Amino acid sequence: MAEHQSAAPAAEPFLPFALPDIDEAEIDAVVACLRSGWVTTGPVARQFEHDFAAWLGAAGHCAPPQALAVNSATAGLHLALEALGIGPGDEVVVPTLTFTATAEVVRYLGARPVFVDVDPATLQIAPAAVEAALTPRTRAILPVHYAGLACDMAALATLARRHGLRIVEDAAHAFPTRRRGRLVGTLDSDVTVFSFYANKTMTTGEGGMVVTRDAALAARMRTMRLHGISRDAFDRYVSRTPAWYYEVVAAGFKYNLTDIAAAIGIQQLRKIERFARRREQLAGRYHTGLAGLPLRLPPLPGDGDSHAWHLYVVRLDATAPLARDALIDALAQRGIGTSVHFIPLHRQPYWRDTCGLAPADFPAAEASYASMLTLPLYTRMSDADQDRVIHALRALLA
Ligand SMILES: *Cc1c(COP(=O)(O)O)cnc(C)c1O
Repeated sequence: MAEHQSAAPAAEPFLPFALPDIDEAEIDAVVACLRSGWVTTGPVARQFEHDFAAWLGAAGHCAPPQALAVNSATAGLHLALEALGIGPGDEVVVPTLTFTATAEVVRYLGARPVFVDVDPATLQIAPAAVEAALTPRTRAILPVHYAGLACDMAALATLARRHGLRIVEDAAHAFPTRRRGRLVGTLDSDVTVFSFYANKTMTTGEGGMVVTRDAALAARMRTMRLHGISRDAFDRYVSRTPAWYYEVVAAGFKYNLTDIAAAIGIQQLRKIERFARRREQLAGRYHTGLAGLPLRLPPLPGDGDSHAWHLYVVRLDATAPLARDALIDALAQRGIGTSVHFIPLHRQPYWRDTCGLAPADFPAAEASYASMLTLPLYTRMSDADQDRVIHALRALLA
């Protein structure tokens, strides 16, 4: 060690903008699953669904909803819209400031995504923009709890009630998030979909969880998750009905989560409160450390709200000495990874061209996109790691 320390100082390690937090507990659980002889969807996936629903019930002080494990949030969003009967000729309202998955699932069903602008203060879907976008063909709203702060769900629920619309929450960033004291996953919507992609607040590598209180929707999604078959493989394996018999009742999908992935999820869920506390701490340290710079810091949660801090997104003021792209390059030169969430969908060639979208229709997303960057924030980041980011920004912007 002493010899190492007296050698020339090594370059500081690269700090990514996100990193999963996996230790021996997940590794042991995966090994146990591999040794068990059952590796696809089975008892571990069922346990994960049970644990996830129970967690929402306990933390949300309510009865547990139904939870269905799926192999991605994208798959879960597709299942939700399919179960709601969305199809050709229908319109679904989505924010432009999101990942393409939010909109593509609408196209899977032959329906049309209608893109709307975000609130410039919160970067969440703007209820007034949603209302302005409604037509007689509008069937559903697909809000995204951007960065881990919840949308104005009361306003969206009022719109949905008044116009007979369904709500599917894209909660890929929002585990766990509270809105006015209530947990996302227990709010007034038809279906909520969480993501366990590698960079989300908890991960299964790839995976997601669909949550609903509607028994008919849950039954449809459970069937469509696995080829439109009325019994899953594990049910056939353990049931007294002859194992070979099953019925195909629809042209379904292949969206089930493996037990290998679910084994990781069960362990991650056990740590979620610690993960959430660490993310809150890091967000607080950024807020203090970056104060006074020509940066617009992300909105803090209001009364009764909490923020999952999946993403810490800052926006550069017009007075900043560097433009956004130059700042990203300068940070990269200092070994600091950043990202941009998101290139608004109205700027993506496919959506722009097929939906005839123009930047002028999305002024808030446009202004945000030009100035935003996502700083590194993950539970394994040390205070010293974060201080590197803060010092670099102070050196570049002060
Ligand atoms: C990550 C993400 C998704 C997709 O999640 P997957 O589990 O990778 O399918 C959907 N919407 C948003 C906003 C996301 O960030």
